Amino acid sequence: MATSDNNRRKFMATTLQSVGLTALGGLLWSGYSDEVKASPLVLRPPGAIREEDFLTACIKCGLCAEACQNRDTNIDKETGKARPGTLIMAKGGDHKLIGTPYFIPTEVPCYMCEDIPCVPVCPSGALDMPSLLNEKEELDINKSRMGLAVVHKESCIAFWGIQCDACYRACPLLDEAITLEYRKNERTGKHAFLLPIVHDDVCTGCGLCEMACVTEKPAIFVLPNEVSKGKAGSHYVKGWEKEDEKRLEDAQSEETTTEISEKSPVDYLNIEELY
Ligand code: SF4
Ligand code: SF4
Ligand code: SF4
Repeated sequence: MATSDNNRRKFMATTLQSVGLTALGGLLWSGYSDEVKASPLVLRPPGAIREEDFLTACIKCGLCAEACQNRDTNIDKETGKARPGTLIMAKGGDHKLIGTPYFIPTEVPCYMCEDIPCVPVCPSGALDMPSLLNEKEELDINKSRMGLAVVHKESCIAFWGIQCDACYRACPLLDEAITLEYRKNERTGKHAFLLPIVHDDVCTGCGLCEMACVTEKPAIFVLPNEVSKGKAGSHYVKGWEKEDEKRLEDAQSEETTTEISEKSPVDYLNIEELY
């Protein structure tokens, strides 16, 4: 009888242990997958490949963050000490895949180092050097597309008519990535607005503008390209652009025009405008 009780106790203990371990595993896994799922707003280092691929390519070695921390321009000239690096290696609770590099512009933006020390050290291809080469085959930080700065007009005080050009002046690609657009203030009739306009074909997503913004919560902020950019669809054409004209011709030769006009009257109007 005693032996059978002992066996039952052993069985119960083993079962509870397995249930406990399974539950713990499940908890850890759900925590892990939550971190992965919570990634769409993450900003990666220059040259980072598509987020989906980045998550599998990055081996979480931290070499990029180390190179960023040790970059020459990171030494405070006054104190001679190193400032915090731009790149943070994600840890539990950061809501990013643990061990992968990211940055938060309002804490430390990317300073767009000319030699881009974070990229050549990456051993896995998660940071893609060829994507940062210019026509002369030289590394060019201006080629990086870490994200895109977006202006929230309702909280940007320049749109209220108050003079502010903090983001414009902070931009390393001044007058290229951000320009100031003059607009008459119809309300007062006397004053003018000078509005910051971001150009998505030039903006690198470095976040220096976000860091410099004077409002309580930045009215200009960087979002990953997948989040900040829309997509018009291949059946909309810009009749004034040669490349698009060619695309239209190709589309017509493939006799897709009828199909397009059946899809939506708006598509039809868009194409009609070209004649
Ligand atoms: S380019 Fe940006 S992320 Fe790379 S080392 Fe320089 S500051 Fe750091
Ligand atoms: S160097 Fe490359 S592989 Fe290593 S953590 Fe940075 S991105 Fe990931
Ligand atoms: S993120 Fe801001 S500062 Fe950086 S390039 Fe774009 S507009 Fe300029």
